[in-house]
Amino acid sequence: MTYSNTQLFIHGHWQDADDRRSLAVLNPATGAEIGRVAHAGKADLDKALASAEKGFKVWRDMTPAARSTIMRKAANLMRERAEAIAPLVTQEQGKPLGEAKAEALAAAEIIEWFAEEGFRVYGRIVPHRTNLAIRQMVLKDPVGPVAAFTPWNFPINQVVRKVAAALAAGCSMIVKAPEETPASPAALIKAFQDAGLPEGVLNLVYGDPAEISKYLIAHPIIRKITFTGSTPVGKLLAGMAGQYMKRVSMELGGHAPVIVCEDADIALAVKSTGTAKFRNAGQVCIAPTRFLVHNSVKDQFAEALTKVARGLKVGDGMSGSQMGPLANPRRLTAMADFQNDAVKHGAKVLTGGARLGETGNFWAPTVLTDVPTDARVFNEEPFGPVAAIRGFDKLEDAIAESNRLPYGLAGYAFTKSLANADQLARRVEVGMLWVNMPAWPTAEMPFGGVKDSGYGSEGGPEALDAYLNTRAVAVMNV
Ligand code: NAD
Repeated sequence: MTYSNTQLFIHGHWQDADDRRSLAVLNPATGAEIGRVAHAGKADLDKALASAEKGFKVWRDMTPAARSTIMRKAANLMRERAEAIAPLVTQEQGKPLGEAKAEALAAAEIIEWFAEEGFRVYGRIVPHRTNLAIRQMVLKDPVGPVAAFTPWNFPINQVVRKVAAALAAGCSMIVKAPEETPASPAALIKAFQDAGLPEGVLNLVYGDPAEISKYLIAHPIIRKITFTGSTPVGKLLAGMAGQYMKRVSMELGGHAPVIVCEDADIALAVKSTGTAKFRNAGQVCIAPTRFLVHNSVKDQFAEALTKVARGLKVGDGMSGSQMGPLANPRRLTAMADFQNDAVKHGAKVLTGGARLGETGNFWAPTVLTDVPTDARVFNEEPFGPVAAIRGFDKLEDAIAESNRLPYGLAGYAFTKSLANADQLARRVEVGMLWVNMPAWPTAEMPFGGVKDSGYGSEGGPEALDAYLNTRAVAVMNV
């Protein structure tokens, strides 16, 4: 299967780094080098900045209809190319081909929705409080060139959520996509290029994340920062952005509670969360992680989830597996540390808990039960195929445990009681809650967290607001 090297995309042209530096790209299923990605230096970043500044002026002044036409063409290209893009995602990131193709197709849907929503960037006319001939207007303008930083777990999706909203608002963007998974975000940017996006509106760079973020965040051309990744890095970047008074959106880590009440449909709870837990080998910010199950049904739930985990075909995503490897060797080390710590604290291992094979970053789908709250896996985002279960007796205790951590991204609950559902909706401190169903993010619904999981939304009209300035203008007719 072909996999080519990835270049930088600056002012409408694919190019090597000015100093020809590049980094190796490894296949996480085999550990083998499959290609190289250009490593941008300061000279490349300066070119990208100048380009984003020029591109912004062109794109800002185009009509929403003209922008929408180009975006819809890019969406169609992603749909047409999904089959060809999927193997790029699988080879560089590890997820099974089906999940990879679904990611490329979802990109088309997201672009399409924002292509339409761009028509609805309205201001308002506000009556003046006197009889003077004054027209008060609220205007919405694009913030300007944006710097976006995205991670490797959904190499297309994490970019497209930012790009689609920013373009619909009239912004240009420099995307710093993940060095570990460069080819699939490049395929997304290529779809926009082939759809006729003017030069400079989108630029794509790779390199040293810390160097690039430091340079771009401080640079006066950049007016907004958007980041998806871990909470510690998000806090660092938000702090830097604060020093330069830049607008910020942060989509950070989570530790999603799953509350299974005594009256829950257990089969539904297992089906919904079992699939979500092991999708993308658990490397999903909204993955269910802390399973809080009523003690009367805990063993039944744990047994059924264990059956799901044991039934999964784990292997290279290119050869029909249901769960692929972890994206990099760092995650294997992290999984081993979580596992040893949980066992040391008294957790019982129902299945998994070990590396699979000696080649590739495979970790067995794992179910732990009776996990104490002081085990690391119940406190730090596991970001891997580990389900940690513990029991509860009273719903208030499960809600208190859900809210104990500083994270507040996603949550799940299963109950047939309307009173329970209402209490959960009001009291669980998360940005997204799904009751009696799997996670189902869509372009039209807000996507984002509260507390240490970040701020700003990557879905719905709120996602566009994040790329708009609101200005007040009053004109007196003289
Ligand atoms: P990490 O914290 O080193 O990196 C996370 C992401 O941030 C990567 O894409 C990385 O390139 C980027 N990054 C790191 N330092 C940066 C900097 N100074 N400036 C700009 N970008 C920077 O961790 P990792 O080992 O790659 O991933 C581990 C943890 O990251 C996971 O445990 C998970 O908590 C989190 N993560 C979250 C998401 C998400 O969707 N929210 C995605 C990937 C990783």
